[in-house]
Amino acid sequence: MLIVTKPGISKEAFEALLEEIKKQGYTPHVSKGESRTLIGAIGAPPTAELMEHFRALPGVEQVIRISKPYKLASWEVHPEPSVLEFATGKTGNGYFMVAAGPCGVESREQILTAARYVKQHGGQMLRGGAFKPRTSPYAFQGLGVKGLELLAEAREETGLPVVTEVTSPDLVSVVASYADVLQIGARNAQNFALLKAAGGSGKPVLLKRGMSMTLDEFLMAAEYVLSEGNPNVILVERGIRTFEKSTRFTLDVSAVPVLKSQTHLPVWIDPSHAAGKRDYVVPLALAGIAAGADGIIVETHPNPEEAKSDAAQQLTEDEFAAMMQRIKRLLPALDKEIAISA
Ligand code: PEP
Ligand code: MN
Repeated sequence: MLIVTKPGISKEAFEALLEEIKKQGYTPHVSKGESRTLIGAIGAPPTAELMEHFRALPGVEQVIRISKPYKLASWEVHPEPSVLEFATGKTGNGYFMVAAGPCGVESREQILTAARYVKQHGGQMLRGGAFKPRTSPYAFQGLGVKGLELLAEAREETGLPVVTEVTSPDLVSVVASYADVLQIGARNAQNFALLKAAGGSGKPVLLKRGMSMTLDEFLMAAEYVLSEGNPNVILVERGIRTFEKSTRFTLDVSAVPVLKSQTHLPVWIDPSHAAGKRDYVVPLALAGIAAGADGIIVETHPNPEEAKSDAAQQLTEDEFAAMMQRIKRLLPALDKEIAISA
């Protein structure tokens, strides 16, 4: 439930209210506004009696049932758009970021080359999988911890924060010790043990939408991370399964405005995994941005033909550079800002 306090509530009454919320078995999440403060009391659906009990306490103006199953992700509990801040830029509320890099970290030379040109052409974050969730157990599984070390080296040299996937709860602590952002992939988007562990890591989480997830289910997955006390979640639409075979998945562009109407969290798109083919990546990126995305995560490889995973969809350096120029021209028309380093 949402408890709205009266404008002049005393400090003592406010503290007593927080104590009472906890005593009743709820967790308070305070959101301070200009004149009033909102307290999201997060827990089981409240009874009418309990709501009445809170209504009668000193300093309480209103008690409202939160209508959605997700609470912390909702605008009701968090009426301001969330902005996540990194060394190189921000995302959310008009700030736009580009995370780019290869599908997987393959070698020192490959990741350093990619990191250098991602930075040179204006990207703000480096991506690269060290633990790869592959459909086939015989396909390249990633370099593991060695890949994490190489990502850290690339960050050291370029200053780009790194985002990399974590595929199981036991790997969260090692991945979090190297990465700036933990990626949870489409195939693990409803791995609740992993969502909780990532939530408890203290690192921002980039959460991909599962290929068969509804948007409500996606928001409930984010709620798992948020409910561990981690407010830094980026939602990524990366294409869903449909009957259409000409692209690898179908980018659900409408997910962007729908999610933004339901949540304060930044919403990004991943045009690479949706497209599956290099030629379609840039149009999908531009479409997602035009629909209101706060960022994109895109695959690019110094030599895509030789990539050990997702070879067909990774942009060349030249394609990436050209896309960045188009994005920089598009953003002002959408009243969005990007931290331009090139
Ligand atoms: C990836 O980003 O490398 C990846 C595997 O993406 P997804 O989980 O969206 O398939
Ligand atoms: Mn990939």
